[in-house]
Amino acid sequence: MALGSGRISPERWALAHDRLVESLRDLIRIPSINPPDPAGPELDVARFLAGALRDVGIPATVYEPVPGRGSVVARLRGDGTGGEPLLLLSHLDVVPAPLDGWTHDPFAGDVEDGWIYGRGAMDRKNLVAMELEVMRLLADETRAAGLDPATDPVPGLRRDILFASTADEEAGGLAGAGWLAMEHSEHLRAAAAINEAGGVAVDIRGRRLYPIQVAEKGITTYRLTFHGTWGHGSMPRTDNAIVLAARAVVRLATPGPIRMTEVTRRFLEGAAEAIEATEPQTARLLQACVAGSTGISAGRLATLLSPVYGRALDAMLRDTLSTNVLHAGVKYNVIPGTAVLEIDCRRLPGTTEPELEARIIDRLGPELAAVTEIELLIATDAVVAPYEDPNGLYPVLEAVIRDHDPDGVALPVMAPFGTDAKHLQQLGVPVFGFSPLRQPPGETYLDRYHGIDERVSLDGLRWGLPVLYDAVRRFCG
Ligand SMILES: [Zn+2]
Repeated sequence: MALGSGRISPERWALAHDRLVESLRDLIRIPSINPPDPAGPELDVARFLAGALRDVGIPATVYEPVPGRGSVVARLRGDGTGGEPLLLLSHLDVVPAPLDGWTHDPFAGDVEDGWIYGRGAMDRKNLVAMELEVMRLLADETRAAGLDPATDPVPGLRRDILFASTADEEAGGLAGAGWLAMEHSEHLRAAAAINEAGGVAVDIRGRRLYPIQVAEKGITTYRLTFHGTWGHGSMPRTDNAIVLAARAVVRLATPGPIRMTEVTRRFLEGAAEAIEATEPQTARLLQACVAGSTGISAGRLATLLSPVYGRALDAMLRDTLSTNVLHAGVKYNVIPGTAVLEIDCRRLPGTTEPELEARIIDRLGPELAAVTEIELLIATDAVVAPYEDPNGLYPVLEAVIRDHDPDGVALPVMAPFGTDAKHLQQLGVPVFGFSPLRQPPGETYLDRYHGIDERVSLDGLRWGLPVLYDAVRRFCG
């Protein structure tokens, strides 16, 4: 067998799968919620992972830059002839899980009908557990060869493998990957990194696409303060700050024009080609997008794809603005003199923050802009990895998908959201979102992110683990 995973017997794979499932359930049971909750600090997950690595002979270091907020790093050695290391990156924090709507305790790690339920099952403890398991398999092989994984090279490995599972990704990563990049970049510097948010099969009527994340949008957040006039509620005013804010919301919430980026063009062309035979109507719509047709909306895309994929595609095609926080008013009979609106904007590669701010002012119009204060809260740039480099990681990821699912089609994609890739960009490390999973058709996994009944399929993990292992073996061998 040409695949590296063929080095391992089916019986060993079955054991590795069981170990992976148990670790994922254990990880879900540690509620590493961000923003941090005293009941379940991220430090506990970091310590758990360090313990699991040490149990198979891999030294691991836990950093705690902020009390209770831990990240863990480790290294396996290659023989040094293959160049810079490969980094296996993941985040160990999760978003909160209000119980409303869940049919399972989000922190119990229940297994039912072939699914593991819990906060983090998809985002992103599945990848934490898979990367941990790849490290353990390689350490097992090293020990089986009579070598010490702490000091000796893994048989057949030419590059080192770095492992980093970090805190705080769900709030920007400054207490996790961002801190490591500033203070201990030796744990992150690599030829390339495997990270979250790609490699999950998307089923479009029988054709399986595997979008591999090679880019992500920049994040920009503004606080807008509207200044009106305070007064008595019995005598309405047109400069009631709530009226001003409401007018602004309507103007800002209208979708902006489409701008095709190179990655999205490649993605749409590839997807259209893949589904042409089975889904000609959707293929034509995707081709119309590429050809620059105006009037492509989430609504139209959603009628042909599932709504969540329609929204994702809609967001890949434009800079987006989402009006997400609004505060105003003190009492029913007091006209509010100020209102505060926070907007979450996602910039395509190539759109700068000043350009976006100018567009917001333009949308508000001169009268509204004159009474609005605009404050920039967060700004990170879009990230694009060099996926066309023939010696880079992307062709390897594409090839292992082909090997493990000959009918599947891997495609480069830009995520509409951000990950810790932004912190790696400053170190010059190209980051690829690849947490391979093949789940039952109809499972619109993007809806599970930060949603209710978050879950991952056992068969998906069983398929994905050897895929990830082969990607690591092939890039490092
Ligand atoms: Zn995530």
